[in-house]
Amino acid sequence: MVTIHGQGVCGGIAFGKLELLKKSVKLVQKSHIEDTKREIQRFEQAKEKASQQLRELYEKAKAEVGEENAMIFDIHSMMLEDEDYISSIKSGITAQRLNAESAVAMTADNFAHMFASMDDSYMQARAGDVRDISERIISILANASMAGISSDSPVIIGARDLAPSETVQLDKSKILAFVTEEGSSNSHTSILARTMNIPAVIGAVGIMEDIFNGTDIIVDGFTGEIYVNPDMHTVLKMQQKKQQSDEQNKLLRKLRGVEPKTKDGQKILLYANIGSIEDMPSVYANDAMGIGLFRSEFIYLERKSFPTEDEQFEIYKSAAQKAIGKRVIIRTLDIGADKQIDYFQMPKEENPAMGVRAIRICLSRPNIFKTQLRALYRASAFGNIAIMFPMITSVKEVKQIKEICSEVQNELKSEGIHFNPDTELGIMIETPAAAIISDMLAKEVDFFSIGTNDLTQYTLAVDRQNPLAEAFCDIKHPAILRMIHTVAENAHKNGIWAGICGELAGDMSLTELFLAMGIDELSVSPGLILPIKQKILDTNVSEIRDKLLNKLLNKLE
Ligand code: PEP
Ligand code: MG
Repeated sequence: MVTIHGQGVCGGIAFGKLELLKKSVKLVQKSHIEDTKREIQRFEQAKEKASQQLRELYEKAKAEVGEENAMIFDIHSMMLEDEDYISSIKSGITAQRLNAESAVAMTADNFAHMFASMDDSYMQARAGDVRDISERIISILANASMAGISSDSPVIIGARDLAPSETVQLDKSKILAFVTEEGSSNSHTSILARTMNIPAVIGAVGIMEDIFNGTDIIVDGFTGEIYVNPDMHTVLKMQQKKQQSDEQNKLLRKLRGVEPKTKDGQKILLYANIGSIEDMPSVYANDAMGIGLFRSEFIYLERKSFPTEDEQFEIYKSAAQKAIGKRVIIRTLDIGADKQIDYFQMPKEENPAMGVRAIRICLSRPNIFKTQLRALYRASAFGNIAIMFPMITSVKEVKQIKEICSEVQNELKSEGIHFNPDTELGIMIETPAAAIISDMLAKEVDFFSIGTNDLTQYTLAVDRQNPLAEAFCDIKHPAILRMIHTVAENAHKNGIWAGICGELAGDMSLTELFLAMGIDELSVSPGLILPIKQKILDTNVSEIRDKLLNKLLNKLE
């Protein structure tokens, strides 16, 4: 057995024979031409045909994977009409007297290098797109066809890289999984794989060895592991894992795209909690409507020194772009207590959970806070970013935060840097103080997100890190549930929305109660979204609202 390690970009387990796809496009022959007019005409005709193919691909992709994902072919069509791209090809023909094929290949190389050398990971991924459109034109000029699957039965596709157009053209009924040696998780091919829910691994260096063609392999799209000629033990282990993931997938297929709405029409937002942008694939795979909690402190925890503004900006921007317009709520730095970082050089505290943590660090060390806020506001120009502040206890803190946000906005404005001035600002309700004064806090912010993990520890006086105290921790204690209810009521009275992002949001025994309270959003780990969606679809809130709320307020006993 040979194990190859790559990066999983779409979860799922696949067993099957590997078919290596080699491009059928011949090596471009460079030749010197005399009749430049004729060569330009050949190029124009090939470009027109490519454009027609892209329109057809757009329609095909729209029907199969939806309009949003079909957009890539629209983008390809636009790239095809790019003036710089066209004039570079034409000048290759007229000035260097190159044949059309090699003028296109030369332009593709130059443009791909230019994109690949950009700092922005999104732009880097566009290098693949320019190669893709150029290969299409070259194929048309050379009368060649794109690579296809030769096997009659379903196979696991192995390729050096797959362009989005190739991915969408392949016969999906014959694909068990994708494995590529190159590619990026931000590329549209990865996005398409996830949308089609086909297990996919990129960066699987070594998979293109000819001797592997036709062998039995197992692909683990969750971990990025590929087993070539697997032994019996691995087969059994992976069969078990596949069974579990198939059950989840069944649920996924049924509920994908279905709006989370109760039988009597009450809607709720189902968002995902993530710790890094690497978690984004599972957000897509589980059909989250947005990110309800991006724990930004993991960016700091992973490093040995403070992440710079630019480093943070790239991460937040990438999250915003990957979410394609969906709301991404990024929580500012929440360290302290259990999340200690040496380079912060915090003084030792007897009781760090009640010490200088989270927003308290940010307000006492404004430079650190401002660096993060600048990065967040800059990223707000690239998608639907909302900013959320942890560990709030007073209106004074919120006013202070808003003042710092205004300062940051003014700085950016004077530097001519774009940002969204209407970026939503929300707070976590995770202290009893914040819950009790939520009527006052609601006048200051755009939304609440209830952090039940800390709210429980502070309300019940049970250290969440102490296993000995766990026996005293009733996560469904009426004090917590009543606070959640109060917070939702105060939010609604003041015209803002309230969600829950603590672990309690994923407790399905409480979903009906949260609906009865009118909670607007639940943010949970991606794997819980679909089971909760099912529960919501099965619920008729008007039938249970009074009973559940009366019970909560002890009116029945
Ligand atoms: C919470 O306290 O409920 C929460 C979501 O934040 P964290 O678990 O990161 O403290
Ligand atoms: Mg918390």
